[in-house]
Amino acid sequence: MSDMSDVGELGSDVYKTLLESTKAIPWKIDWATMRFAYIGPQIEPLLGWRQDSWISAEDWAARIHPDDRDYVVNFCISQSKAGVDHEADYRALTRDNGYVWIRDVVHVVRKENGEVDALVGFMFDISERKKTEEKLLSLQRELEALSFKDGLTGIANRRRFDASLSTEWESARSSGQPLSLILLDIDFFKQYNDLYGHIQGDACLTAVAQTLNLALAGPRDLAARYGGEEFVLMLPETDAAGALAVANRCRRLIERQDIAHVKSPNGRSVTASIGVGTVVPHDGLSPTDFIQAVDRQLYAAKQNGRDRIEVADHI
Ligand code: GH3
Ligand code: MG
Ligand code: MG
Repeated sequence: MSDMSDVGELGSDVYKTLLESTKAIPWKIDWATMRFAYIGPQIEPLLGWRQDSWISAEDWAARIHPDDRDYVVNFCISQSKAGVDHEADYRALTRDNGYVWIRDVVHVVRKENGEVDALVGFMFDISERKKTEEKLLSLQRELEALSFKDGLTGIANRRRFDASLSTEWESARSSGQPLSLILLDIDFFKQYNDLYGHIQGDACLTAVAQTLNLALAGPRDLAARYGGEEFVLMLPETDAAGALAVANRCRRLIERQDIAHVKSPNGRSVTASIGVGTVVPHDGLSPTDFIQAVDRQLYAAKQNGRDRIEVADHI
């Protein structure tokens, strides 16, 4: 390694042995020519490209994953020009069309007059770390999804509904658009469980939940399990007429499912009672007031004979 001038007391042979026996891959680029003055032989077993095929910085750039290339090259050039030591993570392409995650740690070497002389650095293979990071990220995403999902029915849970309601409430308040809610409760579900058992009760809940998802139309509409055998549909940018149409669709879809409930005082299949309300959120009203108003309609639907829809006049 004749080009590494200041080798101190250890002697250049010892330096060379040390550098070439570490897992990290040392390299040096001459700033004036942008050519490799050196790259460790470890590069070949790692990426497959021969040691002597690393001629210029262009070879380095060409062997960066296209998705990372522009960012990494621009970043490294600007940092180097500014004379700042830096590091970059990127996917280095392998000769057999794969890639390896690399952390390149770069030190800017200056001449006595302060001008940049060379870049020296180490490439570290960080693929294991990246794999762990990616696994952690995907686990995190999975957990986040799970925490917003009802375990039994697979639709959104109460937590998700609460979170979305706050968001939609604020958004409706600033846009002046109406926001509608539908609360739906299965009729005589206690009798259903008593007659068919809890397992079939669970299957009935899942079937109803799935069908409610089909009743939705808008891209931000949400169907969630509100608790027990009660469901809620949130319909942003939906007026009273639109909400009533969705409520009717829910009722029809449940009717069409025709889930046997032979002991139901209402008939021979599962039915639901539905409360509907629409507001343009304003200062004098909270989301909780809104839910309570719609819940009163649900209660009225139960009182008025079940298997029916009641709509709040004004909230
Ligand atoms: P109403 O027509 O007035 O709504 O009467 P109901 O029997 O449906 O209402 P009630 O609130 O008296 O009973 C609800 C039942 O729902 C009681 C409870 O055991 C059942 N339930 C709640 N959650 C679940 C569940 O996850 N699985 C099953 N199988 N049953 C559930
Ligand atoms: Mg019920
Ligand atoms: Mg109930």
